[in-house]
Amino acid sequence: MNKLTEVLEGISTVAIAGHVNPDGDCVGSCMGLYLYLKDNYPQIQADVYLEKPREVFHYIKDIDKVKSECEPGQIYDLVVLLDVSSRDRIGVAAPLFDHAVTTVGIDHHITNDGLCQINQILPHASSTCEVLYDLLEDEKITEACAESLYTGIVHDTGVFQYSNTSPHTMRVTANLMEKGIPFSNIVDGSFYQKSYAQNQILGRTLMESIMMLDGRCIVGIVRQKEMEFYGLTSKDLDGIVSQLRNTEGVEVALFLYERSFQEFKVSMRSNDDVDVSRIAGMFGGGGHVKAAGCTMQGSPFDVVNNITLQIEKQLTEEE
Ligand code: 5GP
Ligand code: MN
Repeated sequence: MNKLTEVLEGISTVAIAGHVNPDGDCVGSCMGLYLYLKDNYPQIQADVYLEKPREVFHYIKDIDKVKSECEPGQIYDLVVLLDVSSRDRIGVAAPLFDHAVTTVGIDHHITNDGLCQINQILPHASSTCEVLYDLLEDEKITEACAESLYTGIVHDTGVFQYSNTSPHTMRVTANLMEKGIPFSNIVDGSFYQKSYAQNQILGRTLMESIMMLDGRCIVGIVRQKEMEFYGLTSKDLDGIVSQLRNTEGVEVALFLYERSFQEFKVSMRSNDDVDVSRIAGMFGGGGHVKAAGCTMQGSPFDVVNNITLQIEKQLTEEE
């Protein structure tokens, strides 16, 4: 697939869907495609299916049109999955995916197994928004659509900081900036700004973090009772793992939060030598070489021990 128009021929209904617990790239790409279709293909009925996006994305046009439930028996001509790397990661739109006439996947996860009929997966791209941009026609991108795509690139590159940022990423970003978007507000409002409670849990997690493997691995853990105390949900914990990764000498940052009794969501970030997508894959998850995740059962000690063993293996292979 060179351009999205190739798959839009003869299509009258499109469902756009992202992954569970949608992040900036997922929300940005889903809404970016939705706005693009609304603006340029008024004859197509397009709907976006996502779990309720975080409040920080309120500035994205039409974000209130997002559907968080699908009607039973509904069938779309085309289902487009954005930023979704595997079947079990499809959020609210899983039944629509199963019954769609045609399915298209647009993604940048190295662990994506090509779950759709047509797949555009570029593991070296910074973000799904970058992959999507290249499938669209620049002159048809409005300011509102550009705001949404820019959001995704900013979030998945950590504001152009991570090594997934390429000269091409910057060129795409420049083209989006040409549309006149309030880029500085987007970065501050959706990426950097934290609520007081979010800063408190960040501070507390850093303070109580543990160094392992001779200072090459740092571990942060948030228990359910702490989330209850601060009145937080999982969405409030974004960014903690990146802050852990910034610690001098650390190769891998590990962040766990307790989802339910003896069940932990694990986030991993690596600086250089360790491929965390391989480790996440071993435990039923996935992601990118330097950012990956999975869900694991057991006590936090079991989870940390199982993962650090794999990190240690990779670090020893390196030596
Ligand atoms: P995060 O740590 O921010 O939740 O996720 C980092 C990366 O790993 C994201 O690209 C995300 O899509 C991927 N990821 C996180 N958790 C899972 C998981 O349980 N399964 C899969 N396949 N990918 C995950
Ligand atoms: Mn992404």
